[in-house]
Amino acid sequence: MPMTVIQWFPGHMAKAKREVQEKLKLIDVAFELLDARLPMSSRNPMIDDILGQKPRLILLNKADMADEAVTEQWIRYFRGQGRTAIAIDAQSGTGVRQIAFIAKEMVKEKFEKMRAKGIKNPRPVRALIVGIPNVGKSTLINRLAGRHIAKTGDKPGVTKAQQWIKVGKEMELLDTPGILWPKFEDEDVGFKLAVTGAIKDEILNLQDVAAYALRFLSVHYPERLSERYRLDSIPDDIVALFDAIGRRRGCLTAGGGIDYDKVADIVLYDIRTEKLGRLSFETPASWT
Ligand code: GDP
Repeated sequence: MPMTVIQWFPGHMAKAKREVQEKLKLIDVAFELLDARLPMSSRNPMIDDILGQKPRLILLNKADMADEAVTEQWIRYFRGQGRTAIAIDAQSGTGVRQIAFIAKEMVKEKFEKMRAKGIKNPRPVRALIVGIPNVGKSTLINRLAGRHIAKTGDKPGVTKAQQWIKVGKEMELLDTPGILWPKFEDEDVGFKLAVTGAIKDEILNLQDVAAYALRFLSVHYPERLSERYRLDSIPDDIVALFDAIGRRRGCLTAGGGIDYDKVADIVLYDIRTEKLGRLSFETPASWT
């Protein structure tokens, strides 16, 4: 499926915020979907302001691709901030079954008050998924629905009425997620989103993105680089590292030089398809 292309101009951001806030009126709990490999970089910078006091469950998605120990650190970090966070993999469904259960717990008091007011059978808990493009919102909606729900934006110009998707007997989910923008101002954030494939490759220079990734891996996962590209040592110099990988992989230009575009393609492909193993691009310690 082609990646969602959304141009975020100030007007669009204001509109996105307004649309999410309209949806918030309809729901009891928001699911803030983040990428477990980069929870802060995949987070909307205004999320606290947008969601306000609405109960919120943080879902660290794509946990299957993230470093497990680091994901645990993030869960503790969010819990330390008084939030509830769990790791999930929407693609395979791991962890997804807990969501409705936790959501119900989170709104227990509100529903008890409804019961106290004499409402005997409170309606199902109503929920909304919010997150930046590509964190897995559609995948999670389909997973929770147990079937394929067409993605809004699949057909340009076609807006359909919002509907509730039943998730078991006790939860209902809005079929259209709240789409928010990432934190663009920070260059690191942009690079990390690009490395993981959340930003269209065409808008960035792939060699720059791969160089960013290689610098990060040289510091945090050097053994993975050595192993994957059979390198005895990791050169400090980034061009020397491109050269070394290029030679190993036979990425040569017609003139016999190293084809840096090809090296960049290989490195990014390997990261995105887990050929370099499970990677996390930020830790609570690196963030604060
Ligand atoms: P959306 O733009 O937020 O709706 O994101 P999508 O649901 O379209 O997902 C973006 C990409 O991430 C797709 O290629 C999905 O298959 C993939 N994806 C979503 N969730 C997971 C997950 O938990 N694990 C992995 N490995 N991939 C996922």
